[in-house]
Amino acid sequence: MKNDIFSKNGRTELARKQSSVEQHDKFVSNLRHAICNEELRLHYQPRFDAVSARANVLESLVRWRRPGIGLFYPEVFISSAEDHGLIFSLDLWVFERSCIDLKHMQGAINPNLKIAVNVSALSCESIYYTQKVIEISEKHGVLLSDFEFEITETTHMRDIRKVLVFCETLKNYGVEFSMDNVGSGQSPLTALSMLPISTVTIDQSFVHGIGNSKRCEIIICSLINMVRELGMQAIAKGIENSEQYWFMREAGCNQQQGFLLGRPVSVGKIKPQLLTEPTVDSW
Ligand code: C2E
Ligand code: MG
Repeated sequence: MKNDIFSKNGRTELARKQSSVEQHDKFVSNLRHAICNEELRLHYQPRFDAVSARANVLESLVRWRRPGIGLFYPEVFISSAEDHGLIFSLDLWVFERSCIDLKHMQGAINPNLKIAVNVSALSCESIYYTQKVIEISEKHGVLLSDFEFEITETTHMRDIRKVLVFCETLKNYGVEFSMDNVGSGQSPLTALSMLPISTVTIDQSFVHGIGNSKRCEIIICSLINMVRELGMQAIAKGIENSEQYWFMREAGCNQQQGFLLGRPVSVGKIKPQLLTEPTVDSW
């Protein structure tokens, strides 16, 4: 009897695992379908310069609009895309859509606009991705020097020399590179020492500690000093309140991004007034 119950539980557990594997397989096949069938969308979030108080750079952020289900954010599907070899096609789709949108926004809003595209370190390791980026930019008649690549997920960086080839190749076209969310991953300092990075983004987890964690504040100031010494620029992410904003300004951070200053929006909603820093009275 005891054995029966035990084996029944075992079977239930096995069935549960099988069902979750099946669900996961279905999720991955839906994601593959989504990349090929225009279910992905881009939202753009402004990055404000501390000196000019204007945003000349917009970060593109991918979303997955699942018919009948709703909007999925990248944290739910990027790691699955990386684990199942879909990240190259996803990152290429994002780059191509960014080219189309940049051309439109430079014509309609500001010819000096640039886009910062998130790219998985896994895509950067692929020569195929690098070649396609050059081809796609030429196909759409946009300058690669109007793009910055934010290299994300340093934990997945398997061979930094391949990422270096990616950076060196595109640097010849005037592309700039940033290291995303420094302080959060698995030792991005190696990457910082080897790659031609011009900008470093400070992880929101530190920004959200401002005002309640002295340690976070010390880490932020030290990171900004290090970035300055390296001749790079620092961007603060996740600015949600005026205390965080003023702390970052006083610490000498070069650019700021966050819900306080502007939320990610679809390309149709980008207007010139969204690219000027909101006034303190409106906070
Ligand atoms: P990230 O590059 O650090 O992007 C910033 C994330 O912070 C975005 O989340 C944005 O919506 C969110 N955010 C912006 N301001 C605030 C704020 O004030 N408060 C809070 N709490 N959050 C804020 P999102 O869009 O969910 O993106 C998450 C991450 O997914 C990105 O982090 C990036 O690492 C990755 N990602 C996004 N788009 C792509 C893509 O096209 N390709 C790849 N490979 N990764 C992407
Ligand atoms: Mg980013």
